[in-house]
Amino acid sequence: MSAGKPESQKKKKYLTPQRRAILNALESVVTHPSADVIYEMVRKELPIISMGTVYRNLEQMATEGMILRLDGGGQKRYDGNSTPHLHFRCLCCNAMIDLPMNPHDDIQKIVQTLTDFEIKSYEVIFTGLCPECKLTKKKEQTA
Ligand SMILES: [Zn+2]
Ligand SMILES: [Zn+2]
Repeated sequence: MSAGKPESQKKKKYLTPQRRAILNALESVVTHPSADVIYEMVRKELPIISMGTVYRNLEQMATEGMILRLDGGGQKRYDGNSTPHLHFRCLCCNAMIDLPMNPHDDIQKIVQTLTDFEIKSYEVIFTGLCPECKLTKKKEQTA
């Protein structure tokens, strides 16, 4: 989770206060929050920041590769850990969870060998039921 942290600390020195607050908020959680949630977190540090500023910075930071932008099923979710890793999204409670396994490093090379594309990044999101929702579903079925 904290891979590449020294690098991001170094980078933080040159960030605007807005970006630094956004990155701090994102790095303090593992929940992959949406823009609304990030806005609420950042507001505690920078009370005068607007939703538009948070949203614009999130988009720019994702485009620059500083953070990850993930498809949260109609809603965008953001990740302070920009190193490629695999995700799971629960279709029931919408939790976005990091999978405890190494991403398939070769996948990028394979695609690059098979095609002429120059791959910059990729996104893998497994979907299904998280352990808690699975348990709730089971209880509902047996009740
Ligand atoms: Zn769930
Ligand atoms: Zn993640």
